[in-house]
Amino acid sequence: MAIERTFSIIKPDATARNLTGAVNAIIEKAGLRIVAQKRILMTRGQAETFYAVHKARPFFGELVDFMTSGPVVVQVLEGEGAILKYRDVMGATDPSKAAEGTIRKVHAKSIGENSVHGSDAAETAAIEIAQFFAGNEIVG
Ligand code: GDP
Repeated sequence: MAIERTFSIIKPDATARNLTGAVNAIIEKAGLRIVAQKRILMTRGQAETFYAVHKARPFFGELVDFMTSGPVVVQVLEGEGAILKYRDVMGATDPSKAAEGTIRKVHAKSIGENSVHGSDAAETAAIEIAQFFAGNEIVG
């Protein structure tokens, strides 16, 4: 399988509970390498651009409010089949439906405050990485 890069966010509900290291431990145990990482406060503009695909959804305003409510940690993860692998490691969007041992099963609070984001395809991974990182900030 090819080495891929995917984009990850540790969301405000997780940073608020001081879980950055706990989430990173699950990521690394799964064999993914954190090749870029920074803690930022997302602006509303950044959050609206990032989640533009969900603009028409009833929870869009709530989602932007949440993603700008506190610090997030944006990351680039690298590894074999990283995109699908990280989706598996995160677990289902709704933590009550997530598999045992996944980040969302272990740490998420609700379907909205679900601790992590991970890209869903190669095209979106490239776009999301480029929104938050310059090429020279990613060191594999
Ligand atoms: P993901 O790819 O598993 O993150 O899920 P989606 O792309 O479907 O949704 C993006 C994000 O929107 C989720 O991770 C949640 O933070 C949020 N979200 C999705 N569904 C709901 C919902 O029904 N209510 C709220 N408040 N937020 C939601």
